[in-house]
Amino acid sequence: MATIGFIGLGNMGGPMAANLVKAGHTVSGFDLNPAALDALGKAGGKVAKSAAEAVAGASVVITMLPAGEHVRDVYLNQGGLIDVTKDAHPLLIDCSTIDVESARTVTATAETAGLAMLDAPVSGGTAGAQNGTLTFMVGGTEDAFTRGKAVLEAMGKNIFHAGGPGAGQAVKICNNMMLAINMVGVSEGFLLAEKLGLDWNKLHQICATATANSWALSNYCPAPGPVPAAPSNRDYAPGFAAALMVKDVKLSQAAAEAAGSPTPLAAKALSFYQQVVDQGDGGKDFSVVFRWLAQQKRH
Ligand code: NAD
Repeated sequence: MATIGFIGLGNMGGPMAANLVKAGHTVSGFDLNPAALDALGKAGGKVAKSAAEAVAGASVVITMLPAGEHVRDVYLNQGGLIDVTKDAHPLLIDCSTIDVESARTVTATAETAGLAMLDAPVSGGTAGAQNGTLTFMVGGTEDAFTRGKAVLEAMGKNIFHAGGPGAGQAVKICNNMMLAINMVGVSEGFLLAEKLGLDWNKLHQICATATANSWALSNYCPAPGPVPAAPSNRDYAPGFAAALMVKDVKLSQAAAEAAGSPTPLAAKALSFYQQVVDQGDGGKDFSVVFRWLAQQKRH
C-alpha cells in the first residue's frame, strides 16, 4: 500500500482521496478550503496544514486542482512540490484538466529534478469520482505509467496510457470539447420535443436506445426528470461546473488554433457556456446550458 500526498480535495479530489483511503492507502491531504479538509478527515485521511506537509514521506503525490495556473503554482514555485519532494523521489500524478503546454512544462521540470510524473486527467464526473469508476487518460513514460497504475485503479475503472507527457491532457480536451457540443445538442433536442408536445421521459426512453444516445443523454440528461441522479434534478448543483467547462473548451480552442484544426461548433458551444457564466451560473453544473437555452428566443 502507498503513502499518498493529495493536494486539491474539491468536488473530484475529495471523493478520489476517500477511495484511496478505502483501498487501504495512507492519505495525507491539503486544500485551501477548510471544509474540504474536514471531509478528508471524516473519510479517514490525515489533514495537513500545507501542501509540503501533505507530501512529506509520500511515495505518490496526487494533485486535483482547478486549472494550469494552480498546477504550475503548486509544483513549480520555490518551496513547491517539485522542490520539497526532489530528494524523496515520489511519483507525481496530476489529475487536473489543464493545457498541454503546462503539463509538459511541469513534467519536464520534474524530470530535470529526477522525478517521474504523469498527467492523468479523468472523465466520469463526480459520480465516477465517488464510485471509483473514473476513466484515466494518462500521459508519461511507460515506466511512470506502470508505477502509477495500481494507485489509479483505486479511483478508476478504465486506465489508459495515451502516450508521452501531455498526451493525457490532449485526449481530455478533445473529450470535453465533444461533450460540450453534445450537451448543447441534447438540450436543443429536449427543448424542441417539449414544444412538439412530447413527454421528456418518453423521449429519453426512446432516444437512449436510438442513434442520438450519448453519455449526456442517458446518464446526465439536462432536462429534469428522466435521469434522477442528474444535476438537472437538483437545480443544477455540480457535478462539473459551467466555469470549468468554459476553461476546458477554451483549452481545446487554443489547441485547435495552434494546430490549425477547424472547430466551428466548439466555438459556438463555448459562446453559450460563456453566456451561462456571464449571467452568474458559472458555479452551476454545465448542463444548466439547457435552462439558459430555454430562455433564448429563436431569432
Ligand atoms: P473544485 O473547484 O471542486 O476543486 C478544486 C480544489 O482545489 C478546491 O477545493 C480548491 O480549494 C483547491 N485548491 C485550489 N488551489 C489550491 C492550492 N494552491 N492548494 C491547495 N488546494 C487548492 O474542482 P473539481 O470539480 O474538483 O475539478 C478539479 C479538476 O478536475 C479541474 O481541472 C476540472 O476541470 C477537472 N474535472 C472535473 C470534473 C467534475 O465533474 N467536477 C470532471 C473531470 C475533470
